[in-house]
Amino acid sequence: MKGKKRIKGCKVTVFGAAKSGMAVASLLRRNGADVFITEVKKEDELKNEIEKLKQLEVGWETGGHTHKAIEGKDFLVLSPGVPTDLSLLKEALDKKIPIFSEIEVAYRFCEGKIIGITGSNGKTTTATLLGEILKLDKRKYVVCGNIGLPFSEVVDVLTEDYIVVLELSSFQLEKTQEFHPKIAAVLNITPDHLDRHLDLNSYREAKKRIFKNQTSDDFSVLNSDDPETSSLESEIKSRGFFFSTQGEVKQGAFVKEDMLVFRHLGEEERVIAIDEIRIKGPHNLSNSACAATVAKLLGVETEPLASALKTFPGVEHRLEEVATVSGVKYINDSKATNVNSVWYALRSTDPPIVLLMGGRDKGGDFTRLAEQIKKRVRSLILLGEAKKKIKAQLKGLVPTFFAQDLEEAVDLAKKQAQAGDCVLLSPGCSSFDMFDNYEHRGRVFKTRVLEKKDEI
Ligand code: ADP
Repeated sequence: MKGKKRIKGCKVTVFGAAKSGMAVASLLRRNGADVFITEVKKEDELKNEIEKLKQLEVGWETGGHTHKAIEGKDFLVLSPGVPTDLSLLKEALDKKIPIFSEIEVAYRFCEGKIIGITGSNGKTTTATLLGEILKLDKRKYVVCGNIGLPFSEVVDVLTEDYIVVLELSSFQLEKTQEFHPKIAAVLNITPDHLDRHLDLNSYREAKKRIFKNQTSDDFSVLNSDDPETSSLESEIKSRGFFFSTQGEVKQGAFVKEDMLVFRHLGEEERVIAIDEIRIKGPHNLSNSACAATVAKLLGVETEPLASALKTFPGVEHRLEEVATVSGVKYINDSKATNVNSVWYALRSTDPPIVLLMGGRDKGGDFTRLAEQIKKRVRSLILLGEAKKKIKAQLKGLVPTFFAQDLEEAVDLAKKQAQAGDCVLLSPGCSSFDMFDNYEHRGRVFKTRVLEKKDEI
């Protein structure tokens, strides 16, 4: 399979009928492939999807994957949520049926210039910010991938002059083969998704795939403050650029005398004063430095770059200020689904903090938060499946309470907080034990907080 022409008439199965799976099925179908989709969910949970599949003339099976999904197929496509160790996939490999990720398939249709952004935390913020920068620089661009707009949904209408800002999770990078971004940025590599990628090493390997096909005509952008990330340099063929908030870099963006500076070919350019950047916190400074480095590599002038950094308000559910009620600031950081992002959220929020944590455990080590919690947290309100584990790991460092649901957690937080405090929802866990997704969790939090505002 390569390019649009080779797709026509191919027999393909897509594993997973969620957003990316549906998008890639549609992409393949509109380019003439004979497509079948296989999904573990039951048919009655997939009413909208089935309607769409009928319109597309895509065949389907629900309630599990059967041999029908691999028999006589030219290749298989995996949605990012589908486990890669299914026995049916092993069988397919034995039969020499190629298996690709959704990103790989979309890549082969792409004529635009691809900027891949990956990392454990900060992908959406950085990709969205980069989009804002490109908008102010009047470029043709699209921000897609893990961000909610599948790459496959937009790829075949993008012309050569488009810049494709592609947010990539480690799951999306698995099963890529020829995928080759012009610029590949890695924000950080910290333990996340260890429930699926058995260990940090295989997680690192998945992230590293972003560089696999790059050459010396391409660029890599690495976080020099994160040893896991910067150590990748020795294994990369593309031209290395760095960003840092803690020290100088050879080439790239860093902080010098309270300014964000870009250094290239021995020349330094002052981009913006740090306190003028609208998104706050050390992690967001790092995200801004990454976006600035990529923008400069794309030839963006300093003025639109600085304007975007001044005005970009951040993304919903990421340290989002909801309201101040009785002198207490409520912050929604529902997207903080791992321990590392909670650590940064604590560092970015003014103490004293009433912290709401918990949800479905992703194998995180909550003891890493102990020091921050001791210093900055007034009390801890725990909910969801992980609450007992978190309590056990933090061993009563601060007063700790259990809540049945998020509404009760907000009510408890209100009782605990005093004027001048911040109530921070930064769960450090996924939301799937109690909510459809983190957006749903964030909305429930905001609704309850705003109800509290009305009660006053
Ligand atoms: P991602 O798309 O990688 O999940 P987001 O930009 O959506 O990242 O941010 C998710 C959460 O991660 C934020 O709420 C914030 O708490 C935290 N975060 C954002 N950027 C960083 C960073 N560079 N380092 C560590 N944590 C971060």
